[in-house]
Amino acid sequence: MIEYDVIVVGGGHAGCEAAAASARTGAKTALITHKKSTIGEMSCNPAIGGLGKGHIVREIDALDGLMAKVIDKAGIQFRVLNKSKGPAVQGPRAQADRDLYKAEMQRILNNYNNLYIIETAVEDLIIKSGKIKGVVDKNGDKYNSKAVILTTGTFLNGVMHIGTETKEGGRVNDPTCKGLTPSLQGVGFNIDRLKTGTPCRIQRDTINWDILEEQKGDIPPVPFSYMTKEVTTPQISCAITYTNEEGHKILRENFDRAPLFTGQIEGVGPRYCPSIEDKITRFADKERHQVFLEPEGLNSNLVYPNGISTSLPVDVQEKFLKTIPGLENAIMTQPAYAIEYDFIDPREVKATLETKKIKGLFLAGQIIGTTGYEEAGGLGLIAGVNASLKSQEIDKKFILDRSDAYIGVMIDDLITKGTKEPYRMFTSRAEYRLVLRADNADQRLTKKGEEVGCISPERVEFFHQKMKILIESKVMLNSLNATPNELSKKGIEINKDGKRRTAFDLLTFASISFNDIESVWSELKEIPAEIKNQIEIDAKYSGYLKRIEADIKAFKKDEALEIPDNINYFDIGSLSNEIIQKLEQARPSTIGMASRISGVTPAAIIALLRYVKKQ
Ligand code: FAD
Repeated sequence: MIEYDVIVVGGGHAGCEAAAASARTGAKTALITHKKSTIGEMSCNPAIGGLGKGHIVREIDALDGLMAKVIDKAGIQFRVLNKSKGPAVQGPRAQADRDLYKAEMQRILNNYNNLYIIETAVEDLIIKSGKIKGVVDKNGDKYNSKAVILTTGTFLNGVMHIGTETKEGGRVNDPTCKGLTPSLQGVGFNIDRLKTGTPCRIQRDTINWDILEEQKGDIPPVPFSYMTKEVTTPQISCAITYTNEEGHKILRENFDRAPLFTGQIEGVGPRYCPSIEDKITRFADKERHQVFLEPEGLNSNLVYPNGISTSLPVDVQEKFLKTIPGLENAIMTQPAYAIEYDFIDPREVKATLETKKIKGLFLAGQIIGTTGYEEAGGLGLIAGVNASLKSQEIDKKFILDRSDAYIGVMIDDLITKGTKEPYRMFTSRAEYRLVLRADNADQRLTKKGEEVGCISPERVEFFHQKMKILIESKVMLNSLNATPNELSKKGIEINKDGKRRTAFDLLTFASISFNDIESVWSELKEIPAEIKNQIEIDAKYSGYLKRIEADIKAFKKDEALEIPDNINYFDIGSLSNEIIQKLEQARPSTIGMASRISGVTPAAIIALLRYVKKQ
């Protein structure tokens, strides 16, 4: 029997990144998934990125993952959200052609070195003496490996709801997975239910586009990947419309048939991506809600109405749709539905995403309580690298902390606090968000990735070349200087304090742009445009960075103080039972993590610190 180093179960967004990262980091990897044809499937909205999520995609790219490159090929409308605000909170987003996205992901994975793709359903795990040994499929066939990554998304005991009708399935047209939950529960994993939903799909040529507000993309489209020079896929417009009181009334009148309110759905849904029935209840004073009409592809006759997911019965959905301007004659090709599925308490995993209970078993994506392709992709990549390192007995761990990356923030949030609802990323979750910008993900992460071997030689070369130009250009800017009087002669007015300032110092002023300094020193024109842009952003944030350097240093110090895996919190003596329970549940691996568990007091942290130091 073939033995793999790493087996990844699931070909969704977590699984694709996990499999690629594992193979890239040198492990012989098998991706086992239900259907080869659904690898890279976008279960819900055909879009990648957005606020916070776009940052994660750039981080995945900086670590040589796939998502950014794939969306650059499949994107049919690119927009940078929050453009009027600073670069730190801007979020790249792209509408995808669903089929192109899937096809490009499959093309890359089918040709990935070290990666084998197997089509079957995994129904059990092989565990011996607390260690994973492989998986068993629906036919009873065994696949052996040194590590396994589960990325089963919404498929564990998935149940779909449309009105009072329920149907088993991992998503529409896909099977559920019933075998894994009992195996996982059998070894003591804490499993609960969550819920998410998707809107109906509409036939594109039945929409009255002429009366709708057009939403255009950015010209030129800004690619996601640092390595994409330009987007060449044709671009399209979307449209915006609104719900109204008439539609809300129809929904309200049928709440007695809404699974969300009748108790039929018990799992908690995503707070920031609520269904339309949830929205009109929670924001009862709002007369209308925005609906983005997003074509599902260049040649597709389907449109995704973003903002009206629901689990109400089909007849209600149809009546409601007709009340929305532009959709009066719209034909619904697939009704909206909600799905409930099992997820594992994310406090069951460590920062490497390896489970605490079973050695060599890793979890990533929706299975540990997240929602969204980007979140899943980010987790998949980290699990992939760590499983690969472990399976090859390389004594390294790939852990990103809260000051390194949004991916680090997400993992830390999940493993220290757990989650009661599907977790999605926002820029507000990151305390160091002015450092964790979408523009500098490569500067933050590519070197770290190189150290653990997850970056391809091509990107290593590309990155070092960019850094060389960036550093040389910054040296040049720091060597050029002028006084306020000299600058004034070139049309740049600043405080006449007689102080000589470098070109880089001048760029730190909000009112001075790269164009301005170029008019003083023409040699700066030689610097490539993307490097100029990077230097300008770096300069604008440099003052802030200096101010928080000390905070980040203190944070890193706490993160470096490791708590032994086998600690017995009762031995500390001075901790209350409540605090011991919280620490037991999360079993934090560092003092920093322990300090972020809600309810763990500063006094308890000091006691823990003293105890750890004594050990
Ligand atoms: P998935 O993309 O679900 O992929 C799981 C993969 O694992 C699939 O390929 C499946 O075939 C495979 N698989 C599962 N079990 C097995 C097994 N036992 N053996 C072999 N293969 C297996 N996200 C949002 O951000 N906002 C939303 O509003 C939203 N709504 C959604 C609505 C619906 C109805 C669904 C289904 C999903 C929704 N999502 C939403 C979630 C989004 O699709 C997921 O967050 C994302 O796809 C998760 O990625 P993943 O890789 O964890 O899992």
